[in-house]
Amino acid sequence: MSFEVERTFPACARLHRRRFERTGTRDSSHKSASCAQLGSPPVLGGLQEFRGRGVWVGPSRLPNVTTSGGTSSPAPLLHAESRLALVRRARRTNRELAQTYPDARCELDFTTPLELLVATVLSAQTTDKRVNMTTPELFSRYPDAAAYAAADREDLEDILRPTGFFRAKAQALIGIGQALVERYDGQVPRRLDDLVTLPGVGRKTANVVLGDAFGVPGLTVDTHFGRLVRRLGWTTEEDPVKVETEVGELIEKREWTMLSHRLIFHGRRVCFARKPACGACTVSHLCPSFGIGETDPAVAATLVKTD
Ligand code: SF4
Repeated sequence: MSFEVERTFPACARLHRRRFERTGTRDSSHKSASCAQLGSPPVLGGLQEFRGRGVWVGPSRLPNVTTSGGTSSPAPLLHAESRLALVRRARRTNRELAQTYPDARCELDFTTPLELLVATVLSAQTTDKRVNMTTPELFSRYPDAAAYAAADREDLEDILRPTGFFRAKAQALIGIGQALVERYDGQVPRRLDDLVTLPGVGRKTANVVLGDAFGVPGLTVDTHFGRLVRRLGWTTEEDPVKVETEVGELIEKREWTMLSHRLIFHGRRVCFARKPACGACTVSHLCPSFGIGETDPAVAATLVKTD
């Protein structure tokens, strides 16, 4: 075992040393990417190569594992990723997504914290585009918290009908208006602990308002965010609060709001819940899930949504 292997790839060195001690022969069957760098042929059973310093390289150069059912899926990792490597990979992914989506932003239209709060509540179970079609009339008829507090329920429901779940949403907006008037002098509070006490407002909505209306960094763990960070291997958690905590420990706090927008942009345009366009993904070289979707670049490009 060369000194270079021991110094650069301690995991490989340990494996080779154990085999040498057991068999008395030099064994080249451990053909990881790191060993391959030093002369052995690269392993072909794995989707990812993983270099000792924690950089994912070239998944597209290695084949997927094909199951008996004919579906293609990522092979298990060859090496456990160190904590430091995970942090570096996550931050690098964020930087590369920033280059991919320089215009990433909140896609809801708003001009005040109250408008953003209302629009975010309305965005549940519908698209931002649908909300943006509804809010111009809503915002002109209900300009402040007092207006929502005194709203005629049927009138409000009629306006909200196109967004779905309009009765519950009307109820939430009236409740929010009343709570803001009674407890916060008609203003939207700037603290997460206060925001989540408002009717229909959870951590996700509160973090959207904090990040985009008040400039307070927050992670918006919606369905896209959760799906992407699990596919990227940043967390295995399903619970949004645990996801928020784990991702918050990987990414610099000042990046939280923009990371949320970038991941949501990516989830809406490329990394779809069904049939992600892996072959057109700009962070595929950093993603251990490469291959769960279409990998052919030409075909994948046709799947990408551009608006
Ligand atoms: S599109 Fe594919 S390669 Fe890109 S992040 Fe999603 S699963 Fe990973």
